[in-house]
Amino acid sequence: MKIHEHQAKEVLRRFGVVTLQGSACFSPSEAHAAAQRLGGKVWVVKAQIHAGGRGKGGGVKLARSLDEVKELAGKILGMQLVTHQTGPQGQKVRRLLIEEGADIKKELYVALLVDRTTQRVCLMASSEGGMDIEEVAAKTPEKIQKVFIDPAAGLKDADADAMARAIGVPAEGIAAARAQLQALYQAFDATDASLVEINPMIVTGDARIIALDAKMTFDDNALYRHPDLVALRDLDEEDPAEIAASKFDLSYIQLDGNIGCLVNGAGLAMATMDIIKFFGGEPANFLDVGGGATQEKVTEAFKIMLRNPGLRAILVNIFGGIMRCDVIANGVVAAAREVQLKVPLVVRLEGTNVELGKKILAESGLPIISANNMADAAQKVVAAAKRQ
Ligand code: ADP
Ligand code: MG
Repeated sequence: MKIHEHQAKEVLRRFGVVTLQGSACFSPSEAHAAAQRLGGKVWVVKAQIHAGGRGKGGGVKLARSLDEVKELAGKILGMQLVTHQTGPQGQKVRRLLIEEGADIKKELYVALLVDRTTQRVCLMASSEGGMDIEEVAAKTPEKIQKVFIDPAAGLKDADADAMARAIGVPAEGIAAARAQLQALYQAFDATDASLVEINPMIVTGDARIIALDAKMTFDDNALYRHPDLVALRDLDEEDPAEIAASKFDLSYIQLDGNIGCLVNGAGLAMATMDIIKFFGGEPANFLDVGGGATQEKVTEAFKIMLRNPGLRAILVNIFGGIMRCDVIANGVVAAAREVQLKVPLVVRLEGTNVELGKKILAESGLPIISANNMADAAQKVVAAAKRQ
């Protein structure tokens, strides 16, 4: 689960991370009032969407008067902000962060993430903050420093200091940088985060270290331990089909193709998408209905796939191991009737009670195309989608 920058800063402040003063606003007049409350002479108007690269896309602007804050807020609110992380359709801006302007001397990059190879939290940092870190990694990988943190010891003073020096924090800022890096690690650990990214972490003219941007992503599997974080979820930022799927405990990811896939098991779902592509088709989604799919779940899965206007055919690929093929067949038939299926449906069943399952499909009277194996199923569904 992702949260907005202003929310991430609030969470991080609880752990002692230094951020600027600011407030979230939903209208130009609120933005004006917020800037007035903050005082000062320079403010920053920041679009709040769950994607980075807002600055380059025109979603982060400097204002030098209260009127300018209001004017920029009016321009940014409601805009369809396109960044390298949103895709070409962009993301609608519904809220802003109004923040005091900072005196930036240096922009650094700091992130914490889970490193699968070492099975540790990795503190990754660079002197090249403020820019696209992927570009730094590709062109000048030597400018990215890493420390793998021992979970028993936490981020040690010596490691934090060495990191601060390696990324160019001036001598008078090392103690502050150490405190900030350790606070970030504590926040990461305590919130079960999977990513904390501060880009940029700045050094100010008076050697203070401030998190100027903040991105936090949490491990969904640990959210049950953090109701306060769950409350920060912003459904406007998520795909409606994926939200509907999560309510029924279905793992669903929308893709760009036109062949819907309903599969049990993540591995089989991946293999199904691969084989569709192999035979020249394009999957419309990833969908794993899980091991214990009920008729209700299968029906909901059909409904979610059918929200996609580009859908041309559906492939149901089920291996009945724990699940019985006759139960699935009944679910598919009931679901196809309930949603009045208009696109061709190819079904491949294998496993427990497969003969009974096939009989149920054949006798349903529905125009279901039966397939004998995965290759057969993929070829049939690709051909069916092309005919549509
Ligand atoms: P994004 O990463 O989505 O582009 P950032 O929050 O990193 O958004 O902002 C982009 C750039 O805007 C920063 O690298 C920084 O140079 C500038 N900036 C952001 N917030 C402030 C601020 N409060 N004061 C001055 N400059 C800022
Ligand atoms: Mg940034």
